[in-house]
Amino acid sequence: MNKVLVSACLIGKNVRYNGLVKLHESSILADWKLQGRLVPFCSEVAGGLPVPRPSSEILCHDGSTVLHGHARIMNIKGKDVTQYFVTGAQKALELACLHQIKLAILKDGSPSCGSTYIYDGSFSRVKKPGKGVTTVLLQENKIRVFSEREISKAAEYLKTL
Ligand code: SF4
Repeated sequence: MNKVLVSACLIGKNVRYNGLVKLHESSILADWKLQGRLVPFCSEVAGGLPVPRPSSEILCHDGSTVLHGHARIMNIKGKDVTQYFVTGAQKALELACLHQIKLAILKDGSPSCGSTYIYDGSFSRVKKPGKGVTTVLLQENKIRVFSEREISKAAEYLKTL
């Protein structure tokens, strides 16, 4: 059975930066969970950050430039947290490889899990097109990433695997 990597926060795990649980309602995710298909993962917690934690944003660039060492991620208190995010992304890839995963559903907007947008680094809730660090690393390793708004599309893709 093909497994699906999923942002742990989407299935109600307490891993979000603000410590608030926010389950993403989806009958497809619920089915996949029952089938034992889901592999939940949080890059930021796996990378060593606590719950709750200060919010973090990628400064000026996106996950690709961070991953390749040309941009930083700072938290709202001014601490450089780049290495936590890079470590978390590497652990996500290791887990995906372990389960031979080819498909991930990741929470959009996150500096780790974003796939269509992230925040611009000003900590003023301004969105911009871009990807998080984990998303970029998974995609560079041929794993398809879908956001929580694209689960139906992901289900179609799963049928082709
Ligand atoms: Fe963790 Fe990703 Fe959810 Fe952020 S979006 S809490 S990194 S699983």
